[in-house]
Amino acid sequence: MRKILLTLLLSASLGVSFADNANKPTVEILATGGTIAGTASSQTSTIYKAGSLTAEQLIASVNGLSDLANIQYAQVYNKDSGDITLNDWLHLASEVQKAADNPKINAIVITHGTDTMEETAYFLDLVIKTNKPIILVGAMRPATSMSSDGPLNLYNAVAVAIDKQSSSRGVLVAMNEKIFDSRNVTK
Ligand code: ASP
Repeated sequence: MRKILLTLLLSASLGVSFADNANKPTVEILATGGTIAGTASSQTSTIYKAGSLTAEQLIASVNGLSDLANIQYAQVYNKDSGDITLNDWLHLASEVQKAADNPKINAIVITHGTDTMEETAYFLDLVIKTNKPIILVGAMRPATSMSSDGPLNLYNAVAVAIDKQSSSRGVLVAMNEKIFDSRNVTK
């Protein structure tokens, strides 16, 4: 009983992971909000609130993600990316560096609003020291949209993250079935 309690406490304070499989790489998903986590009152509404779904809900909406990798996740914040502050950036950078320095984590995926994704990608590229893949991903349509692009974008971001060719490339952005480097990407 004490062991179960300890495990629950640890997962609450360190982020959460699903049951790990030693044959699969482990990807940490750091959720920050954006349209990919946005919800509207109907499937066709274009008025929505970015940063509404939690990391857990976002991950649960993507079928097959756990076939690709062991998924761990943490909610860094949950905002429209236009509202991200310098303090948020510092907080994100420290979470990314912590994950990059963790020998149990092979790659990092960051869900993010597209309005300032290029700035965050470039900032992280400048400050994070690691050879591990770091992939930013977002969506153009909210999670509740009839044709939401978030789930496939997130699936593809994890697929890019676990590919050996993504190592030592600095921070990348995976969106719309394309891979961009953080120094040149623009919305
Ligand atoms: N306003 C949203 C944001 O940047 C737009 C998006 O996610 O694309 O968070």
